[in-house]
Amino acid sequence: MDRKKFLHLSSLGLASLNLTRISKSVQKPIVISTWDSGMPVNAAAWEILSKKGKSIDAVEAGALYIENSLNCCVGLGGYPDRDGIVTLDACIMDEKANCGAVGGLEQIKHPISVARKIMETTPHVMLVGQGAQQFALQNGFQLESKELSEDAAKNYKLWLEKSQYHPEINVENKKQNGPAAPPFFEDGSPNHDTMGLVAMDINGDLSGAVTTSGMAYKIHGRVGDSPIIGAGLFVDNEIGAATSSGVGEEVIRICGTHLVVEYMRQGYSPENACKKAVERIVKRDRKKAESIQVGFLAMNKKGEYGAFAIQKGFVFSVKSEAENQIHPSKYLI
Ligand code: ASP
Repeated sequence: MDRKKFLHLSSLGLASLNLTRISKSVQKPIVISTWDSGMPVNAAAWEILSKKGKSIDAVEAGALYIENSLNCCVGLGGYPDRDGIVTLDACIMDEKANCGAVGGLEQIKHPISVARKIMETTPHVMLVGQGAQQFALQNGFQLESKELSEDAAKNYKLWLEKSQYHPEINVENKKQNGPAAPPFFEDGSPNHDTMGLVAMDINGDLSGAVTTSGMAYKIHGRVGDSPIIGAGLFVDNEIGAATSSGVGEEVIRICGTHLVVEYMRQGYSPENACKKAVERIVKRDRKKAESIQVGFLAMNKKGEYGAFAIQKGFVFSVKSEAENQIHPSKYLI
């Protein structure tokens, strides 16, 4: 064996020694999504995957499901920015690296479908704000009311009393540390809850979608990681795909999901690839990381999946022929 080949093999060996846990391997098709709210989202995607449908249609169906729900920090039922306006971010990406995204979209119920329309009918990847809304209206999407959902209106009113913006850790830690306070909602739920999902269809093709109303009480015009390809979502059909949830600014700073996919390319399992990305965030500023949450979720071409978060509390949902359940993510701090 020549030296170059030996060195290459031993670096792969080192990478695999690093695998603290090899995620359970499952049959395709499979869909994974962020949070426990991913369970019905996976079910919607599974309707398509189980009938040999394409992963791009499955992830759109999953995102549409949650955008229809008024009980989640996603879609028009989500929490507003600090001016009381709900602005939506979404993106979608398929196995050929086709992708589309919207940022700061107002009064349109299905940002994920607007993102797909951008992907399929324009030479662009991302439209934002008024331009995105104009594009949506020109393409047959309805203009919806500006009114906040009952829950969002109630919590926004509470938040206005102090108007403090602290992107903090999510609910599990908060419960341990005392009662919820703004920006946590009355019920103690966290101020971030993005839906990111990744699916592999029967043909082995990967796609992903992300949809969110973003960080609650953000500055009007702020766009997080969720609609940014390489930050909130990345798909490389040769290697795998990843999505994220949590404080978007930290994910953007490390091009988070692109990084996770690149770690998988180096031979890391999905879980360890996510862990390496989390470590990158924590290493840069541990003090800051102690008070925020970021979680990554990834799948490779074998249908192995895994997640890793900064803090306790990140969970993800998995649906395949072998299972239909919620998994807790491992965490660093
Ligand atoms: N990543 C989202 C954002 O920064 C928030 C979330 O995950 O809920 O907008």
